[in-house]
Amino acid sequence: QCANVCPVNSISEVDDTYKIKQAMQDPSMRIVVSTSPSVRVALGEEFGMPAGTFVEGLMVAALRSLGFHYVLDTNFSADLTIMEEAAELVKRISTHGTLPQFTSCCPAWVKFVETFYPEMRNHLSSAKSPIGMQGPTIKTYFAQKQKLAADRIFNVALTPCTAKKFEIGRPEMNAAAAELDDVNLRDMDAVITTRELARWLKAEGIDLNALKPSEYDSFMGPASGAGIIFGNTGGVMEAAIRTAYWMLTDENPKADLVKLTPVRGMDGIREAELEINGIPVRAAVVHGTENARQLMEKIKAKAVNYDFVEVMTCRGGCIGGGGQPKSAVPMNDEIRQARIDSLYQKDADSTIRFSHENPQIQAVYKEFYSKPLSEKAERFLHTEYADRSAILNGVHPKVTDILPKAE
Ligand code: SF4
Repeated sequence: QCANVCPVNSISEVDDTYKIKQAMQDPSMRIVVSTSPSVRVALGEEFGMPAGTFVEGLMVAALRSLGFHYVLDTNFSADLTIMEEAAELVKRISTHGTLPQFTSCCPAWVKFVETFYPEMRNHLSSAKSPIGMQGPTIKTYFAQKQKLAADRIFNVALTPCTAKKFEIGRPEMNAAAAELDDVNLRDMDAVITTRELARWLKAEGIDLNALKPSEYDSFMGPASGAGIIFGNTGGVMEAAIRTAYWMLTDENPKADLVKLTPVRGMDGIREAELEINGIPVRAAVVHGTENARQLMEKIKAKAVNYDFVEVMTCRGGCIGGGGQPKSAVPMNDEIRQARIDSLYQKDADSTIRFSHENPQIQAVYKEFYSKPLSEKAERFLHTEYADRSAILNGVHPKVTDILPKAE
């Protein structure tokens, strides 16, 4: 089914661990890995653990034993994405901008819009995905703080997602290169999936069960509970609403908006209608490209009316990504739900549940980005989208030819 609809050509896996091993051969390189939220609730399945087992500490220990110098949490940048995306939503709502705003952290969804609905690409949030933000922030802010040269950093993203391999290759994912005037820099250097990591560990004889848990590096490691639920369908919406509420009211939302029950679950299209400071906000959450296509047709026909729409192309969101363990063939919703429950539990257990309350997010704005949607934040953390519809006629233009030109 996916082969008919996936617009990203990322169905077949290309193992990129060799790139990391090559970089590890160079003693002058510092190898940094950032881990996406849903890897930690699926990796254990490769080592005989029940679906959804939360193995964050063991995963960090495994990465350290492979030789990574820094282990960071992509959830940190999920918090950053929320700050930017929520600020953009508030701006669009308060200035009568283009609505609904679509989430943009799923590269397969972004390419789907660029290919099949290019006329609607101005609905996509301009905020990059967490990995898209993590890359340039590591090569600039993190590098300065750790006294590292940007060209000596090899940036790896550990993800559930084969489409992220395409995303990091987009030509605009080079904000650090532009800032540091070094054309050879890329924001992210390699993506490996949960399954690729498991294969690598097994080849090295490293058993996850035999490790002692380790912790993330203390700088750009800590994240809020809002950051972690990025890994499941509905999570981005829930996290963004928490911070949009705070931006509009100066207060944190009450419990029913922290746990946004209507957008949880596995129905293909879910809706919620809320009111923030007297402003109605109509939200929808979609997973799976066929559901996305149906929703887009309804939006085009003005049969539905939303302000904010989250789309993830994998069933269940990233917990069900193409690079995750295939613990059942075909994959089933019981396994997906176990992974989702594990992420929600971690959010519920977190002392910080709002992206805007993450002290290191507050610090990165104070010391580097100034504020959400600042000129620097726009340069590093936002992007634009191309019309790729010519691909449907067998034409494959270079993306540099179809991206809008700078004025
Ligand atoms: Fe990747 Fe699937 Fe997550 Fe989209 S939903 S970012 S394709 S894993």
